[in-house]
Amino acid sequence: MPTTYVYRFSEGDKDQKDLLGGKGANLAEMTRLGLPVPPGFTITTDACRAYLATGEVPEELAVQVTTALREVEAELGRHLGAAEDPLLVSVRSGAKFSMPGMMETVLNIGLNDESVKGLAAASQDERFAWDSYRRLIQMFGKTVLDIDGEHFASALEAKKADRGVSLDYELDVAALTELVEEYKAIVREYAGIDFPQDPRAQLDMATEAVFRSWNTERAHIYRRREKIPHDLGTAVNVCTMVFGNMGQTSGTGVCFTRDPSTGRSGVYGDYLVNAQGEDVVAGIRNTLSLSDLKTIDPESYKELRAAMRRLETHYRDLCDIEFTIERGKLWLLQTRVGKRTAAAAFRVATQLVDEKLITKDEALTRVTGDQLTQLMFPQFEHTGDNDLITKAMPASPGAAVGRIVFDNAEAVARAEAGESVILVRRETNPDDLPGMVAAVGVLTARGGKTSHAAVVARGMGKTCVCGADQLEVDAAAKTIRVRGREDLVLTSEDTIAIDGQTGEVFLGEVPVADSPVMTYLRRGLEVALDAAGDVDSRELITSVDRLMRHADEVRRLEVRANADNPDDARHAIHRGAQGVGLCRTEHMFLGERKQFVQNLILAQTPQERESALAALLPLQKGDFVQMFETMNGKPMTVRLIDPPLHEFLPDFTELSVKVALDRERGTLDPADEELLAVVRRNHEANPMLGLRGVRLLLTMPGLIELQVRAIAEAAVERLKAGGDPRPEIMIPLIGSVRELQIARERVEAVLTEVSQASGYELDFPVGCMIELPRAAVGADTIAEEADFFSFGTNDLTQTTWGFSRDDVEGTFFKEYLEEGVFGVSPFETIDERGVGRMVELGAERGRQTKPDLKLGVCGEHGGDPESIEFFHRAGLNYVSCSPFRVPVARLEAGRAAV
Ligand code: ADP
Ligand code: MG
Ligand code: MG
Repeated sequence: MPTTYVYRFSEGDKDQKDLLGGKGANLAEMTRLGLPVPPGFTITTDACRAYLATGEVPEELAVQVTTALREVEAELGRHLGAAEDPLLVSVRSGAKFSMPGMMETVLNIGLNDESVKGLAAASQDERFAWDSYRRLIQMFGKTVLDIDGEHFASALEAKKADRGVSLDYELDVAALTELVEEYKAIVREYAGIDFPQDPRAQLDMATEAVFRSWNTERAHIYRRREKIPHDLGTAVNVCTMVFGNMGQTSGTGVCFTRDPSTGRSGVYGDYLVNAQGEDVVAGIRNTLSLSDLKTIDPESYKELRAAMRRLETHYRDLCDIEFTIERGKLWLLQTRVGKRTAAAAFRVATQLVDEKLITKDEALTRVTGDQLTQLMFPQFEHTGDNDLITKAMPASPGAAVGRIVFDNAEAVARAEAGESVILVRRETNPDDLPGMVAAVGVLTARGGKTSHAAVVARGMGKTCVCGADQLEVDAAAKTIRVRGREDLVLTSEDTIAIDGQTGEVFLGEVPVADSPVMTYLRRGLEVALDAAGDVDSRELITSVDRLMRHADEVRRLEVRANADNPDDARHAIHRGAQGVGLCRTEHMFLGERKQFVQNLILAQTPQERESALAALLPLQKGDFVQMFETMNGKPMTVRLIDPPLHEFLPDFTELSVKVALDRERGTLDPADEELLAVVRRNHEANPMLGLRGVRLLLTMPGLIELQVRAIAEAAVERLKAGGDPRPEIMIPLIGSVRELQIARERVEAVLTEVSQASGYELDFPVGCMIELPRAAVGADTIAEEADFFSFGTNDLTQTTWGFSRDDVEGTFFKEYLEEGVFGVSPFETIDERGVGRMVELGAERGRQTKPDLKLGVCGEHGGDPESIEFFHRAGLNYVSCSPFRVPVARLEAGRAAV
């Protein structure tokens, strides 16, 4: 059986994105729904992968294209590139995940010296036909033959100058015919071949070019950023051309079934009369709004509205649609579930629940923890002194402050040097991607909410304001003039602030304040609603609240926080934490208290040790009293001391130098000399693999007793005061059950002693961290001594991979990411196939021994969306993350459960 490489639009459906790409699958779906899609077919991603692997087009593909093309021709009664009434097609890229503007599309395939006349006759518009032909040669030259677009652009400019006109469409037939000849000469000169006159050759060459565009640099950058795998390949859609540039009754547009930037219900869109394809997206002319279409062409408008409703009902989500009207006839060229801002995602999800189009569970799948994070970012504070220079279209939310940059290279260079920059352009195009990635925000003078800058910025979650037509951006001179402010000339030295929520552009720094969602998370629904300035914010807060509450209802994972002090603990509780999953105790020994620990390390006699410990006890106990008070009634996992000893001692090199100098000067303090000896003795080549965690507890007499006594006495104090302290004592860096056994015996001895002395029962759970491969593998035995496990996935990643986590980010990780050894740092998202298996193994074996063993995870991964999904699947009981991430973890835990 030969592979099927080609599917007619009437054959596929929306679930075949792997094979047909997003655009192809949705064109097929629209065709199936009976919506007006120009006939065509899709060449599969299989074909692309085969081509990229071998450098050759599979032979079956050519045959199948012939068949599909002839079917389309038969259906329309026209032939590709025929001399009379020619059929023309577009050749359009379309990968599984939409990569707006990243890859190539060639329009008007099939035009040549003969068929251009046929098109002129059929359309009764000679100018249109020649303009289409010159566009084809230009696009084909650029994308298929890799000729620098500047050559065509300057020939076009020269022609306009020659004719004394300023706009493209003012060129007449004679001028366009000349231009076509000039373009052909450019092709001959720079590509070394004649512009192919054979329509089928044009089609095949364009197809290959689309395949190749999968591997352009900008496509690579985009995929890396969006975490899209590099080996998917793109499909190619061959689609009958329809023309929005056939005069005043034609046009082209983009619309959304709801506003993708605010999430307001009600349709939204841009329309351009007498324009083709990319004119809207390129932001070349300022567009009309969708409601203007209602007056211009009520029939098409009505049909479009009906199609929008149909698509939204069908996809049960916000859709965006590309459409073209050819002489009063509506055609749909593309649809997809539309990209949207974080705010729009939350609002649209709850709107759809209210409209009974989706369930609450589904609504949870429509929003992400990353989107919630974006909504938590601060916004500009509205003081009276902000110098507002203009207000334009808010295209992608956020508050960005930075110095002005005018081009990509500068954006990248200055950002790398640590500066915050805002990319300011007349309009952006796909080549600007690296600059957009580097900048903290993007500001354009041209284009609407559907322009390239807006679409790409929204996709990246980057602040963007567009269509600021008061600004005259001169990229060559690197200046911006502001209409109405004649005295003002902005340069690369100036700082501006752009507000992606309001479209405001300010000169200079502007202070930032909590976002409405942050106010909600910190201070609750009522306060946030009162403080919210407008309906949009109020609706957003309500949507977030509803979805958060639903997430809390359905989630199985508990969410705890990592908190070492009462402030952090309080923040965490306000954001919905159900306990502290990791209270690190070493922070309690730093700063001024370091001295006491040093005394302990230096102690020579039992008496010296006793007095060092005695000094530490009240300090540590005081800390716990406060923490227990804050966490009253909620569990709090206390990890006994973990870091390597040397962290409490002076730096070896510095102290050596000091001692040597003092000795020379004769001012040496014998205590320093003694200290140096201790430091030298404790110096380790690999401290993270050295004397730390339980090893330290077992070898330093009195340390474990001190810590447990502080916990126990603090608990008694709270109990006496009527409180409800719930410590869980956790031993770090366990490798063998014997270590835990010894530690546990000592812990329990102290608990019993304090209990007997006080008369309060103190049977706190004692558990351990699983952060060494040996502990995961031997979890069945370790579980015998543990009341709970907490997976320390930071150390577990370090020890499983054998990476030093303090060094790798700066050394070889960049290359590893580029080479695809991993798609994202394993310290950021859990490496499921390696470290994740350790977690699964530990969980499974631990529960073999104790079926109801409580399992948690602490560390960075506890707040990472993808990792949380994994922990849910692995059957853990809770995740613990930083207080700021708690709401994200709650939402993601809810998403994982539906
Ligand atoms: P992208 O993936 O960048 O959106 P598209 O393949 O959708 O690229 O095409 C780019 C532009 O060309 C779009 O505005 C689209 O509407 C237009 N276009 C594509 N195919 C046709 C066609 N057959 N007839 C008219 N316009 C088309
Ligand atoms: Mg498109
Ligand atoms: Mg650790």
